[in-house]
Amino acid sequence: MRIVFFGSPGSGKGTQANELSVGYGLTHISTGEIFRAKVLDGTRIGRRIGDTIAAGSLVDDITANYVLFKAIEGLNRFLVDGYPRNIAQARMFDVHLQNIGTELTCALFLDVPIEVAEERLILRRTQRQDKIENYRRADDAPAVIRHRFEVYRQQTEPLIEYYSDRIVRVNGTGSTTEVTRKIAKALREWE
Ligand code: ADP
Repeated sequence: MRIVFFGSPGSGKGTQANELSVGYGLTHISTGEIFRAKVLDGTRIGRRIGDTIAAGSLVDDITANYVLFKAIEGLNRFLVDGYPRNIAQARMFDVHLQNIGTELTCALFLDVPIEVAEERLILRRTQRQDKIENYRRADDAPAVIRHRFEVYRQQTEPLIEYYSDRIVRVNGTGSTTEVTRKIAKALREWE
């Protein structure tokens, strides 16, 4: 099972990706987490990535593709969360998978109205007590949140159309458990 998982910021994608990967025995690959870890290594590339994330913009495609292709090396069961972020990455990923003799099982889209997602993100930031965690997600500042949604609308949302022949669309409103159940049901129906 090879899945890409996408949705807007605040769609609950990270939480659901954790549940899913455990439930289905898939390796969970989050490009956001990989990049945040790189920021901490203090290298020049790490600092550049850190600035990009803090601004709510996308890391360049060459870096994102490189990091992701390396992360899935040798894996046949994975759930990719946060990649692809635009059509160029999605195309490159399809070509890459074809080159290594495989393809995606499906593209899972977690569908949450923008207003709900925005509210969740603002809440997450205000509820966060831990200074380190607030620093870690510096991209949760209100102005940056707005920019992240803009980037999502312009670059990531077109993936719905790109993946139309293999999309599994799940309504992401409701409690975490409800959404996990909905995803499991949708995947069962897809297989
Ligand atoms: P969210 O889904 O909540 O926006 P992520 O953890 O997926 O957060 O990503 C955090 C940041 O990492 C993004 O805003 C972006 O700067 C960078 N990033 C993650 N994945 C990619 C990717 N595939 N391409 C480019 N940038 C990425």
